[in-house]
Amino acid sequence: MHHSGEPSFRESVDLMFERAVALMDLPAGLAQKIRVCNSTYTVRFGVRLRGKIETFVGYRSVHSEHMEPVKGGIRYATNVNQDEVEALAALMTYKCALVETPFGGSKGGLCIDPRQYDERELEQITRRFAYELIKRDLIHPAQNVPAPDMGTGEREMAWIVDQYRRMNTTDINAAACVTGKPLNSGGIRGRVEATGRGVQYALREFFRHREDMAKAGLTGTLDGKRVVVQGLGNVGYHAAKFLSEEDGAKIIAVIERDGAVLNAAGLDIEDLRAHLAATGGVKDYAHGQYVAEGAAVLETDCDILIPAAMEGVINIGNAERIKAPLIIEAANGPITFGADEILRRKGCVIIPDMYANAGGVTVSYFEWVKNLSHIRFGRMQRRAEESRSRLLVEELERLSADKGLGWELKPEFREKFLTGSDELALVRSGLDDTMRTAYQSMREIWHGRQDVEDLRVAAYIVAIDRVAATYRSKGL
Ligand code: GLU
Repeated sequence: MHHSGEPSFRESVDLMFERAVALMDLPAGLAQKIRVCNSTYTVRFGVRLRGKIETFVGYRSVHSEHMEPVKGGIRYATNVNQDEVEALAALMTYKCALVETPFGGSKGGLCIDPRQYDERELEQITRRFAYELIKRDLIHPAQNVPAPDMGTGEREMAWIVDQYRRMNTTDINAAACVTGKPLNSGGIRGRVEATGRGVQYALREFFRHREDMAKAGLTGTLDGKRVVVQGLGNVGYHAAKFLSEEDGAKIIAVIERDGAVLNAAGLDIEDLRAHLAATGGVKDYAHGQYVAEGAAVLETDCDILIPAAMEGVINIGNAERIKAPLIIEAANGPITFGADEILRRKGCVIIPDMYANAGGVTVSYFEWVKNLSHIRFGRMQRRAEESRSRLLVEELERLSADKGLGWELKPEFREKFLTGSDELALVRSGLDDTMRTAYQSMREIWHGRQDVEDLRVAAYIVAIDRVAATYRSKGL
């Protein structure tokens, strides 16, 4: 979905890449090797549905195998095409490098409108698509590990892992062939919320730096900030929910497929999501003002704009009219290369996709590690933590008894202290730590170099530098 006369999504990513490379000192040829997409597999397969055979087109693109497995979601949407999956695969390479998850970049897609099929049909289609990819090692715990993306979720991942198990009955690491699985298929707590949670952590980190806020002309904290969210899917919903419920941000508008709903006092995200689930849209929502022309609402006066739907929504056709001083790219590629230039000129600060939405792949990494270790995530650490805590508590109690001090730990506290942290808490703190560290690495370049004017080019420099270092040390 790009404005006519603008480069395609993939070309847009390439141009952003080249902007960074121009500021780097890479050996000739290496930049090109990093930029190009290694391979894209196209498959056309038939499924018998409602008595007739329907043909589907799917892709799995591998952008860079400098580390394996390669990683990236599988998208179900009608506009899926080769250019798009290649752009998304490239973004996965840079994203993984930036947050230091040890994966190469990949992405898959199926041209389908999932809303046109019932659950049984979707299972048939998904299993058949997975079969084609598994056969070619394009789904494999050591080589290529998909995950959810637009139009897919836990349900599809459960079908994929089951399909892989059927075809690889002796693979002890089968569970690690895909991430984003439901808990009872080997998933991890906190993966569903992870991308939205990561957006929240990214914003919290941004708001810890006065200097950075000043670049966007923002002061204060997240509390009371006016936020516009585009897309109330998995990512937009969780980001909006956490920011409003936990940080006091006011979601003044939500843009969806059928239009937008506005409320200057702030929308109740849980309530709106329930309406969306029940009616399929935001129209007729009682607690807000409905606007049929959703895209125009991107231009609303606000403090933070969160595009969390799809690529190319902010382009040369509307960039000039965007008023938000801060945009955080929860979606992949929502701002085109041309729009990025216009917004930069206007002084808008953009927290780039490869950082902003890296929470998903970060928690995917935790899930993959959990699957390969065949032990509940954090269980080892937890055992060690518990025995240390126990020693401490017992020593305190002994001391107290010796000195006749009569100290006693409240039973609830003793319990809490001794049972340590659970999986969800570990996942969240690991994610928070990852988002903070990655922000620091971008920030160092952003502030440290005269020729670096924005966070996106800083993010690319960090990511490309790391991919280049891997190539240098292992040899091409
Ligand atoms: N599809 C998500 C993304 O764009 C998650 C990928 C993953 O977890 O592998 O980052």
